[in-house]
Amino acid sequence: MRTALIYSDKYLEHNPGLGHPERPERLKAIVSGLKRFNLWNTQEIKVVEPYPAKLEDIKLVHDPEYISLVEKLSAMERPIDGDTPAKKNTFELALLAAGGAITAGNLVMSGGAKNAFALVRPPGHHACRSHGGGFCYFNNIAIMIERLKLDFKLKRIFVLDFDAHHGNGTQEIFYADPSVLYMSLHQHPLTLYPGTGFPDEIGEGEGIGLKVNVPMEPGSGDIEYWAAMKEIFIPLCEKFKPDFFAVSAGFDAHFDDPLTGLHLSTKAYGWLASAVIEQAEKWCGGKAVFLLEGGYDLEALASGAVYVVRAMQGEKFTPPEEKTRLKVIEEVKKALAEKWSL
Ligand SMILES: [Zn+2]
Repeated sequence: MRTALIYSDKYLEHNPGLGHPERPERLKAIVSGLKRFNLWNTQEIKVVEPYPAKLEDIKLVHDPEYISLVEKLSAMERPIDGDTPAKKNTFELALLAAGGAITAGNLVMSGGAKNAFALVRPPGHHACRSHGGGFCYFNNIAIMIERLKLDFKLKRIFVLDFDAHHGNGTQEIFYADPSVLYMSLHQHPLTLYPGTGFPDEIGEGEGIGLKVNVPMEPGSGDIEYWAAMKEIFIPLCEKFKPDFFAVSAGFDAHFDDPLTGLHLSTKAYGWLASAVIEQAEKWCGGKAVFLLEGGYDLEALASGAVYVVRAMQGEKFTPPEEKTRLKVIEEVKKALAEKWSL
């Protein structure tokens, strides 16, 4: 098998409530999209049931007090924040989402699959060490990374986050960590939740130069995103030489997404994923895990996920040729100049 899809019907039981954009239909749409394109349980694509994360896994990232708080709020059905309600089953399902990420990482690291896509809910990239929010309870990608660092001695993990929102939780957790290069492409923080992810947020201590933020003006699309991939992502891979790739795959930078103002095409998810797969092949035997974050237009979400899985299967997608000079890219390069000359 080349690609593992981590999925459980239990992920559909996470229901933040009527009218909430992070709804079970999101995952249903992805599954039926993948089935329609024959990308679900084939010779090369296996669907794998996740196991729940253990408390000790969650503690690698989150404060024990916060973990107990999520458990308590879940039992009382009281919200984590205004956007992030908790139900009786929230704690258990958040453990299963983090466990889905670990299941994916383990499969890829142990050679059971070349790459994996964890189709999990609830999402995770806004969850910080001691507080959640923005539809997120536990930081799935960070928990997977800490687990893999311990179990497989990974030293250089490249995290690409192309969700339209900045992954403030992931950035906070790894801010001083030199083993994790976190790069985020997101809508400009002055125009969208959570309001972080400026170019001068570059990390601290040993982590300086390893947190890379490329904010995109509303209206940005394929041309701007490819410029950032070509001028920042690929050169950074050449310098950092990752031993593992982890992708916070959100699909809300799509033109049709109701929550954001970005203009990515559906096909962009193909070449974004192709670029990751190509770099993973070059540096670490193709080891890459994609994790579902946001994406709130059902059709864009399903089609975007189909493109990602096709790229994971080795299909190559080409980005737009058009040349552009973006001020923000010069700004990012300048912010990182102390660490890297890009
Ligand atoms: Zn998002």
